[in-house]
Amino acid sequence: MGTPVIDFHIHPICYEQYGESALNWIKGIHGDKDWQKYYETFCDPGYFVRYLKENSIDYGVVLAELCPAVTGTCSNEYVLNFCKGHDALIPFASINPSLTINMRSELKRLLDAGFHGLKFYPTYQHFYANDSSLYPLYALAEESQIPVMFHTGSSVFKGARLKYGDPLYLDDVAVDFPDMKIILVHGGRGFWYDRAFFLTKIHPNVYTEVAGLPPKKLMDYFPELERIAHKVIFGSDWPGITDLKNNIDIIRQLPLSEKAKDQILGGTAAALLNLQIPD
Ligand SMILES: [Zn+2]
Repeated sequence: MGTPVIDFHIHPICYEQYGESALNWIKGIHGDKDWQKYYETFCDPGYFVRYLKENSIDYGVVLAELCPAVTGTCSNEYVLNFCKGHDALIPFASINPSLTINMRSELKRLLDAGFHGLKFYPTYQHFYANDSSLYPLYALAEESQIPVMFHTGSSVFKGARLKYGDPLYLDDVAVDFPDMKIILVHGGRGFWYDRAFFLTKIHPNVYTEVAGLPPKKLMDYFPELERIAHKVIFGSDWPGITDLKNNIDIIRQLPLSEKAKDQILGGTAAALLNLQIPD
C-alpha cells in the first residue's frame, strides 16, 4: 500500500441518546423517509468497513461523544465494540470534564482498554481547553503520545456555546505541553481559520483537521494550505455528509502538489497514529 487514505472524523450512526437538534439535522441530510433503514444498515460495523473501502478509504477514526446536553451520547464502550476485530476502524475516546472527576485516571483506563486517541468537544461540553483542571490529563496525553482532538469553530446544534471553540485557548496548551499532539478539529470553522492556520504553522505539535468544511472551499479558507499540508488532516464528519468519495476526489483536484494532497488525505494522519501499514 502507498500512502493510505484516512478519514480522521467519523461518528457512528448509533447513539445511545441523540440531542433533538442533532438528530433532526442528520435526518434532514439522509431523508426522514428512509432513516430507520439507513440507521440499521450502518449500525453494522462490517457493512461500514465495506462502505469505507467502496469510497477509497483505508482507515477511519471512529469517535465516541459524551455530550448529553447538546448533541448526545455515543459511549466509549460502544465505539470500542464497534471497532473490535476491524483493523480499518480506529477507536477514539471521549471524556466530558463535567462528568468525570479524575480525568487523568479515566484517560489511563481508556488507553489500557485499547483507544488510540481522544476527542474533546469544548463547545458542547462547555469548558475552555486551557482550564488547569485538564492539565494532569494533558500530561498523560503528552507522555502517551496519543493525538488529542478539540472541536473548534462553529456549530449549528442547540445548546452549543461557540466561545469555547476559539482555537486560541489551545495556544496555552501547545506552549505548556510542547510534545502533546493537538488537533484543531474543523480548522476553526467560520470565525477562526486564520488562528487555526497560524497555530498550526508556529507550533510543531499543533495540527489542523478539515472535517465538516466543503473541500472545494479549502483554498479560500486556507490560501497557504500547501505550507502546512504536512500538518493537515482529512476528515469527513460522516454521517454529516452523504458523498464521501466525492469529498476525496475534490481534494485530489485542488491546486496543491501531489505530495501535499497525499499528506492531507492520509500521510499526516498515518504518522500521527503511528500506523503500521501492510505492504
Ligand atoms: Zn463531528
